[in-house]
Amino acid sequence: MIPAAPLPLQPEPVPAPTPAPSVPAPRWQRRWREAVRDPRELLGLLGLDAAAAGISDAAAAQFPLRVPRGFITRMRPGDLADPLLRQVLPIDAEQRIVPGFSLDAVGDGAAKKADGVIQKYRGRALLVATGSCAVNCRYCFRRHFPYADETAARDGWAGAIASIAADPSIDEVILSGGDPLSLATPKLAELTAQLAAIPHIRRLRIHSRLPVVLPERVDAPLLQWLSALPWPVTLVIHANHANEFDAYVDAALAALRGAGVQLLNQAVLLRGVNDSVDALADLSERGFAAGVLPYYLHQLDRVQGVAHFEVPDGEARALHAALAARLSGYLVPKLVREVQGDTGKRPL
Ligand SMILES: *Cc1c(COP(=O)(O)O)cnc(C)c1O
Ligand code: SF4
Repeated sequence: MIPAAPLPLQPEPVPAPTPAPSVPAPRWQRRWREAVRDPRELLGLLGLDAAAAGISDAAAAQFPLRVPRGFITRMRPGDLADPLLRQVLPIDAEQRIVPGFSLDAVGDGAAKKADGVIQKYRGRALLVATGSCAVNCRYCFRRHFPYADETAARDGWAGAIASIAADPSIDEVILSGGDPLSLATPKLAELTAQLAAIPHIRRLRIHSRLPVVLPERVDAPLLQWLSALPWPVTLVIHANHANEFDAYVDAALAALRGAGVQLLNQAVLLRGVNDSVDALADLSERGFAAGVLPYYLHQLDRVQGVAHFEVPDGEARALHAALAARLSGYLVPKLVREVQGDTGKRPL
């Protein structure tokens, strides 16, 4: 079902340096290309002094800054401690080498079934649909693995389709990445048309940060594609802080629900972003107001460059217990960590 009213258009909050391209492209792709990539420009937009911010050119060279302009409008001007800014700004602390923080923290190398297909858990095949994201999150394991050569889309999905078709125990396909919704809608439709021929698939799940960081992505063609799929669809948004929601995000999420999509949120517990009971409670409540139920609260994957975001397990458990004492049961996410070799996410 397509919502009757069109989505409100995001205003142009800050001038973009790039001129409009001559080839017409969906609006969201233009917004995508207009993302801010220069840490100094980002700080300037927020009225912050680059010298005081501790930005690291070396960290930015290793994993570039990338943040859509709409997301920047949700940051508090003049506040270096803003929880959204902290998620995207490359800082000196990333250059520290900390024991225990490695390059392949989650063991994806070992769980590969085919190019772009990872299976760690029973029944669920994860497709690395693309290596691209609209935003580069500093805490992400992807900072070391852009997966550029290993996406399932590369060969027109043939390898991925063959490996899923050959394993009748797989009943759920998970589109992940990178951000799977960074693929153009016709490319996604090409995949699901092929998946539809596999009888043992019962559910489709999409993990995407795009409805939050670039809500323009939820356009009419995407909603048409979603509402025509032959399986129940779950979309797991990745929001870490209540301030990531605004009226445009709300409208995008409402449209997704209108298309019959079940919305869940998974967050990462991050020092200086959401490491308080208030922040976590606000996140659950704000998400729920937008039609999203909390799913997981993840302990950080221990990859190089993210140690300053880590919250120790003891503190994480205490925060989670306090959250459970405060909120309705269905507003409390499961606190988990990914451990190599486990049969599912491990509860803390
Ligand atoms: C996290 C993950 C899943 C999904 O696990 P759920 O507990 O069902 O959310 C599936 N496959 C892989 C490889 C994963 O890392
Ligand atoms: S995979 Fe998710 S967390 Fe990582 S950079 Fe992309 S959007 Fe951010």
